[in-house]
Amino acid sequence: MFGANFNPLLLIGIAYAITLSIVSAYLWASGRFSARIRYLLLIITIILGFATFSPMIPHQFQSLFIQLAEGRIGTMLFAGIIGLTILTLLAALFGRHFCGYLCPIGAVQEAAYTIPTKKVLVQQKGILSAIRGLFLVAMIGGALLFGIALLDYFGFSDFFKITLSAGTLVFIVVLLIAIPIYRPFCRIICPVGAIFQVGALPAIYKIRRTDACIECGKCERVCPTNEAKAEDNKSECYLCRRCIEVCPKDGALVYGRKRA
Ligand code: SF4
Ligand code: SF4
Repeated sequence: MFGANFNPLLLIGIAYAITLSIVSAYLWASGRFSARIRYLLLIITIILGFATFSPMIPHQFQSLFIQLAEGRIGTMLFAGIIGLTILTLLAALFGRHFCGYLCPIGAVQEAAYTIPTKKVLVQQKGILSAIRGLFLVAMIGGALLFGIALLDYFGFSDFFKITLSAGTLVFIVVLLIAIPIYRPFCRIICPVGAIFQVGALPAIYKIRRTDACIECGKCERVCPTNEAKAEDNKSECYLCRRCIEVCPKDGALVYGRKRA
């Protein structure tokens, strides 16, 4: 997962991602997760991204296939597969807490979207997911067949390593787009997002409506990913809390298991 130039600091990121995914799910389920905690997690995650370049799972996911293509099969490759499997299982249990707050790439886009400006809701989630799925196939094929690291063209690696390059400029453009449009990289490009979306489809814990809902539609109008309708499966829900914050009825939206 981590390549020949393995940096032990990266393990901090993986441990952070797994531990905080569980802590975040617990806080949500116990009703203690708040906007303040969300901002705190986003800030810590962004700092970790710049300080250790981890947990940069999309980048490390791509490295798995580059290593496979180069025949570098070793301990770190298996460690990476185990880490990714654990995070996917956590998405299947609790939803996408990793994408919500613990991925530096997602966190900087989330920060960009908080900049007050007119927002453009792009709600064609089926089309976006299909494009992202195709990119996942292209990324794996490019890595295995040609040793090409397609994700590198999006520049987040140079951005978080604070290296001035064409790639950094590309990622800055992505962040500028993320000011009016919610998480363009996550929703159109990220191959790990494609995997976690499938993982989160059967999530046991997710945001659900209760009988207290008065069907005012406010949550649906504010949701940037078109996941707030009662029948939506929440696989593209980034647990951003916008639906909960606009809901006029206490207890109409709760995070929990499906009631029998
Ligand atoms: S979709 Fe990808 S880039 Fe976005 S938060 Fe999830 S893992 Fe990170
Ligand atoms: S508004 Fe609600 S349903 Fe939509 S992404 Fe945010 S938390 Fe999920």
